[in-house]
Amino acid sequence: MKDLLFIAGPCAAESKEIILHSIHQAKKAGLDYLRVSLWKPRTQPGFEGLGEKGISLLQETAKAGLNPATEVMLPEHVTLLIKKVLPVNESITLLVWIGARNQNHIIQRAIAKAAVHPRVRLMVKNQIWHSQKHWEGIIHYVLEGGISRKKLLVCHRGFAPIGKNQQGYRNIPNFKMAMDVKKITGLPMLFDPSHTGGTAENVKKLVQEAMRYDFDGLMIEVHPSPKKALTDAQQQLTW
Ligand code: PEP
Ligand code: MN
Repeated sequence: MKDLLFIAGPCAAESKEIILHSIHQAKKAGLDYLRVSLWKPRTQPGFEGLGEKGISLLQETAKAGLNPATEVMLPEHVTLLIKKVLPVNESITLLVWIGARNQNHIIQRAIAKAAVHPRVRLMVKNQIWHSQKHWEGIIHYVLEGGISRKKLLVCHRGFAPIGKNQQGYRNIPNFKMAMDVKKITGLPMLFDPSHTGGTAENVKKLVQEAMRYDFDGLMIEVHPSPKKALTDAQQQLTW
């Protein structure tokens, strides 16, 4: 079996206690990146992540010799992380990603520009609506921002269902499209079964299904006590 890239951790970085526990588990599991996500896009106002106040949690992760990963909403977030997190440990790399809801091409290009750094990787997720043309467009925009293809990853997280949702997933996967985008762009393609599935049961089912395709990695939400999670409680697995 090929060596898959594994990113896992809580939906949102909620507290120091949870992240210290996650660091321990992630090291034991040999993860490539720990999710320490600071900025959360939300459908309704609520817990939007710790934001800048949580940077110390990425520093803790780096100090422990583990690579941290977080969503970023603005180019300023990337600049701040580069300044504050990378100097803590010269041997770690930082992964930042653009989420499915951050669909402003000016911001996407600016985030990619800010992420140009030898120790930073950028991941882009597909947008929420079902369109291959749009998905490829996001990739063109970030490449215009100057990010190297060697530092760029793509991630499939399904598309918002339209009408009757017979599959019962939170978002509908299109594995064939993901493979087409991988082939056309030549970029590594990860799969996020958590935001696709929406429930822990679906996550397990989708991982099995995705194994039939040539994905290059997985990003999975894992929380020490999912029921108590401040965001996406139904879909998080335990360590
Ligand atoms: C996330 O990964 O934290 C997230 C919000 O997912 P998506 O952008 O796929 O909705
Ligand atoms: Mn989530």
